[in-house]
Amino acid sequence: MTTAETASTDTVRVLVVEDDPTIADSLVRGLRQAGYDAGCVGTARAALLLPPSDVVLLDLGLPDMDGIELCRRLRQRSDPAIIVVTARGEEADRVLALDEGADDYLVKPFGLAELMARLRAVLRRTHPVDHEPVRYGPLTIDTRTRKVAVEGREVFLTPKEFDILACLATDPGRVVTRQKILESAWDAHWYGPTKVVDAHVAALRRKLGVPGLIETAYGRGFRLGEVA
Ligand code: CA
Repeated sequence: MTTAETASTDTVRVLVVEDDPTIADSLVRGLRQAGYDAGCVGTARAALLLPPSDVVLLDLGLPDMDGIELCRRLRQRSDPAIIVVTARGEEADRVLALDEGADDYLVKPFGLAELMARLRAVLRRTHPVDHEPVRYGPLTIDTRTRKVAVEGREVFLTPKEFDILACLATDPGRVVTRQKILESAWDAHWYGPTKVVDAHVAALRRKLGVPGLIETAYGRGFRLGEVA
């Protein structure tokens, strides 16, 4: 599998947290050549000030905070894939880092090819790419091209409507709360009224034209209902 396939339609953002500028520069250069949107910081403080990345390559030996503590804090605020990169090869460190939410562990020195292979493996687990359209009753949802069809007839949705439908279709039958839909289709930090979802769901129902497809679970949210 190539990087582009693993990376889905969006570029994967990789943050290198490494205080050795020589190592940081060569990692960032290699990552950019492989098509990643890579940047680096030299301190834990700087890492915590940045918006969340998709993947963090984390050096455990940082000047201002233990890397394992940074791993814990990154995990608390978002859900990046974390690969710990360190000179410390002891099993205790490795176990501690994995316990604190690291997805994988690389011991220096390592080759760029090995790093890239680990990165692709981590991304396959954390950002699975599904090229097969999702089928549910008369509905077909292609998450790669963002096209939706009902009984083979294409239905043109707005980006929000598509995101709401894709969110419901990840687990048909399960109720998805308005808050969850907002986080998925708007952004993770929506503090406004959740009623905005209802207007988009109403439009979505009209466009799809399949009675019973999107059910309201009163006081809870929405779900995809049983349809023939
Ligand atoms: Ca270091």
